[in-house]
Amino acid sequence: MIRFLRVTENGSLVCQLGRPPLSTFNAFWLSKDEEGSQSLTWRESTTDELMDGDVTIAVSHSTINYKDGLALTGSSPVVRRWPMIPGIDFAGSVTTSSDPSFTVGQQVILNGWGVGETHLGGYSQLARVPGGWLVALPQAFTPAQSMAIGTAGYTAMLCVMAIEDRGVKPGDGAILVTGASGGVGSVAVSLLSSLGYEVIASTGRIEETDYLTHLGASSVINRAELSEPGRALGKERWIGAVDSVGSHTLANVLAGTRYGGTVAACGLAQGMDLPGSVAPFILRGVTLVGVDSVMAPSGLRNSAWARLAKDLDVKKLDSVTDTQSVSQAPKLATEILAGKVRGRVVLNIDS
Ligand code: NDP
Repeated sequence: MIRFLRVTENGSLVCQLGRPPLSTFNAFWLSKDEEGSQSLTWRESTTDELMDGDVTIAVSHSTINYKDGLALTGSSPVVRRWPMIPGIDFAGSVTTSSDPSFTVGQQVILNGWGVGETHLGGYSQLARVPGGWLVALPQAFTPAQSMAIGTAGYTAMLCVMAIEDRGVKPGDGAILVTGASGGVGSVAVSLLSSLGYEVIASTGRIEETDYLTHLGASSVINRAELSEPGRALGKERWIGAVDSVGSHTLANVLAGTRYGGTVAACGLAQGMDLPGSVAPFILRGVTLVGVDSVMAPSGLRNSAWARLAKDLDVKKLDSVTDTQSVSQAPKLATEILAGKVRGRVVLNIDS
């Protein structure tokens, strides 16, 4: 930790721990020209360019989620403010705060709230946001580990909590996780297994069977079993599911859910459509729960982070995490959309 001198509002000089506030900083800026072509530039920026907010954060780490891939490649209209600093997640330490809930030097996390979409994001050495968007970093995690979790892992926790809230307990039956080798899927498999659930992992990467078994999957199925148009109702195979894939996969997941079971749907890696039938709902009393992490209220996200701190196996998290420089974000964006990123990637902002 660095010590530096700071002039307070009444003019006295104090010695403070932490990083001095920056007046210039470097960030990735995503721009769009008149033809609609996107370009990404790492450039020096000034604090005047930051948007409104009552807390400024020296960002140390970010990550790459599926949505970051969509934003960086322009494959989907994720970015709705130009130019934009991408990055829907960040972790770092507070440099200035007029929100009494946050003090200078405190370590914080941000997930979602439109950051990287409508508000300048995390691929930057400095960020400024409303204090109400921040979560205090749980003691269980370093800033890097909090970004290994990121929106993907925090969403996995929201999905698990949604299944628990509907009364599904370990011992009631297996829980299916689709997109299991991806970010949401890997953290969901690990969490569910730590909580004592039997986990069936569905993946298109059967060669990752050892990886998924190490995370806690009891069995691994080929996602091809679920990805084609299927029957309205199938054999009852699982009591719950975490689905990050959508489309035919989600329809088949619902069709294979046991009587009274719960499916938490959070993603669209196969597609945004839901080409199924109401049969699982009206004949088996299946519940389909939608999970959104971006606008989840503060109380819910604080609960999710507290549960992650209690229930996530940090050694397993470390084993699924790859650490890279933020300069690699454009390459990783293409890879994550192609389903080639396994587990989670932490981006170091300063390197
Ligand atoms: P990843 O790319 O890390 O994981 C997605 C996984 O889905 C892939 O690894 C792959 O797993 C599987 N997959 C990819 N393409 C297909 C396909 N065509 N058909 C079937 N399966 C496929 O992304 P994330 O884990 O970060 O995000 C997953 C999804 O969840 C995304 O759609 C994302 O937008 C969404 N999401 C939603 C949130 C919310 O708030 N609702 C928050 C976070 C994410 P495998 O190789 O194992 O088959």
